[in-house]
This record gives sequence, structure tokens and C-alpha cells, in this order.
Amino acid sequence: MDTEQKLAVLGAAAKYDICASTSIKSGRPTGRDTIGSHAPAGICHSYTPDGRCVSLLKVLMTNSCRNDCQYCVNRVSNDFERSSFEPEELARLFIELYRRNYLEGIFLSSAVQKSADHTMGKMIQTAEILRHRFKYRGYIHLKALPHTSPHLIERGAQLADRMSVNLESPTPDRLKLIASEKNFMLDLIAPIDAIQKQVQKGLLKAGQTTQFVVGAAGETDLELLKTTNWLYQKKGLKRAYFSAYIPPDLTTRASKSANQPPYHRAPLWREHRLYQADWLMRFYEFRLEDLVLQQDSNLSLDLDPKMVAALKNREQFPVEINTAPYKTLLRIPGVGPTAAKRIWRVRREHRLTDLNELKNIGVVVKRAKPFILLNGRKQGEISSIVPTKQLELFPFVVS
Ligand code: SF4
Repeated sequence: MDTEQKLAVLGAAAKYDICASTSIKSGRPTGRDTIGSHAPAGICHSYTPDGRCVSLLKVLMTNSCRNDCQYCVNRVSNDFERSSFEPEELARLFIELYRRNYLEGIFLSSAVQKSADHTMGKMIQTAEILRHRFKYRGYIHLKALPHTSPHLIERGAQLADRMSVNLESPTPDRLKLIASEKNFMLDLIAPIDAIQKQVQKGLLKAGQTTQFVVGAAGETDLELLKTTNWLYQKKGLKRAYFSAYIPPDLTTRASKSANQPPYHRAPLWREHRLYQADWLMRFYEFRLEDLVLQQDSNLSLDLDPKMVAALKNREQFPVEINTAPYKTLLRIPGVGPTAAKRIWRVRREHRLTDLNELKNIGVVVKRAKPFILLNGRKQGEISSIVPTKQLELFPFVVS
């Protein structure tokens, strides 16, 4: 297989790994003999915070795996085309594409070939060639494989801007159902701890992230968000990604001949709701328990988590738009940070009395109306909001 064919196979295989745009200052010295800007970095066809579209080479070192995780297309029992890059080959390929201005960074992940350390060693070697031989100073995101040794994490952290470990499932029991060879604490949390140490030392300026496969193990949203919250608070996680499970037979011809995993495709809107809840916890300081309707359950099917939080705390509403503190404004469904700041500015000049004015400011009036007072006047009734249904998970079957 030539390099181009490998890129087609291993690039396609990397589509299940999620990474995202980020803008960082690595502090890595640049000069006339170096190439690559460290400021703009991100996901393929995503956007930097300043709105610029950026692209990464997202690729696997190899799709040959010794493990047999049931949800994964690369599992050893799957009968399909395998391929691997050598570090030199991949580094050259990337740098050629970079010089032609096709790319602005690399996201390198992999299956586990002979062992985690063997494959991780190759990934690190690729990054070393880029940094030292080609003097590339741009963005590198290295995926740490399950059970990677701490000394390799340390080496990776000296080269990469971001590292990540895919947690896949929120609890040890859930993980066992889909990846019986992986030990939640030893194989996944231990590398996360090792990466955290490197972040604390000032390396990996873009921090560490993780990814969950949503729906593969029958987990609830509450379980996913509890673990996510724990990772933010205790492990210094920068961001969690949620990837709705797609059975391999929907994505590749390969699985048609392989043992079919017994799990069903997860709906994309479930992924969307998890991102909404995650965002509210990180940037709006919402508590997890406010975002779900019942304990041990899932996010609402038909109402977004902010609306759920408002309904659960209905005694705090309606709030007067003309006097509410900024943080209270943010709690109103239909009012985001931009609209809240504009309200704050405008009301210093005059009192807000008209829904149209709120609309022009950027408030989603239809959502906000039941929760606000405008100059003392109610604008709607909370009781008019229809109670929500629970998200019904697709059937989960263990073989
Ligand atoms: S170790 Fe990773 S690549 Fe290998 S089967 Fe499991 S999830 Fe897939």
C-alpha cells in the first residue's frame, strides 16, 4: 500500500476520534529557521475563537489492534483492511501537506498494535521528527493509548500541545461491557493522571481532553455528566467530547463479515443535549443536579437543559430584567452571555419595557417570556410550558 492509500485508510479510521479548535500560546520558541504557527490550532474544518476555519490532519498511526473492544471498528476480530504508517513516512507526509498550506496541525491517534508503549513510541517518534528535524512549531495533539507508561506520557508532553485519553465509558462497570480487556483505573485514569502532572508542570498548553462513546454501554446521561464533572474538578480536564455510538456496520463494509456488536445506534440529539449540559456546567456554573429531571436518569428529550434547570427552580422566577444581576440574567432560558451583557449596558441608559427591544438585543423572547418581568409586568406563565418527557434510550442488549 503506498502512502496515499494508507492516508485514505488511516484518515478514514480516525473519524471516530473527536478533537476541537483551540487557540493557544505554547511558549515554544520560533525563529527564521522554524515553521508552523502555534497560535491557531484546531479540528479539521472547525473554527478558532476568532472565527477562522482551520484544519488538522487527523489520522491513525495504525488501525491494527490487538484488543477486541466490541464497539470499535478496529477491533482484532473485525475482518477488514489493516495498515500502518512508519514515523518517518507520516512525518514527511504531514510536513509536505503543511508546506502546501493544506493543514494547520496534526491530531495523531492509533489502535494498539503490539502493545500500548510500542505504538505510543512510534507516535512520539513521529512528533519528534516533526519538532526536531523539520522544526515544526505548529499544533500537535497526541492521543495517549490505554495503559501508556508514564515516561512516554512525559516525552509526549514535551512535544505536543494537547494530549488526550479516550475514557469511552463513564464507569468501570460500563467499560467492562464494551471493552473487557481495559481496566478503567489502571489503563485509562492512570494515563489521565500522568498527563495532568505534565499540565501542572506547565507543559501541554492546550490541556487534556477525553471522549465518551455515547450509548455504547447503556449508560445514562447522569453517569456521563457526573464523570465529566469529576474530571473537570479533580483531573483538570479541559474538555470532554461526546460521540454518539455508530455501530461499525453502519460505517464500513468491513463489519459485514465480522461479529456484530449487539448495540444500537445512539441518536445524535442525545450527543447534542450532553454538549448543552456540559457547556452550562463549565461556563454558566450550573449544578449537575439542576439539569436533569430525576436522579439516575437522562436529559430531557424535548426541553434543553437550561429550560429544565429553570423549571426545577421555578420559585426563582420571574426575574426583573431591569434589576437582575448578570448571573441571574444568565439563568433565564433564551438569554446567553452576549444578550445578558447587552441588557446590562442598555439598562444603564434607560429602563427596558418592550419585548421587541429585548428581541433586538438578542434575547430569544419566546423562550424567555415566562421567566421575566419587564418594568414589573409579567410576560408569560411558566405553567404554559409542557412538562417534559424523559429521554427513552434505545434498547441495550448484552450478548
Ligand atoms: S484498543 Fe482502541 S483501537 Fe483497539 S479495539 Fe479498543 S477502542 Fe478500538
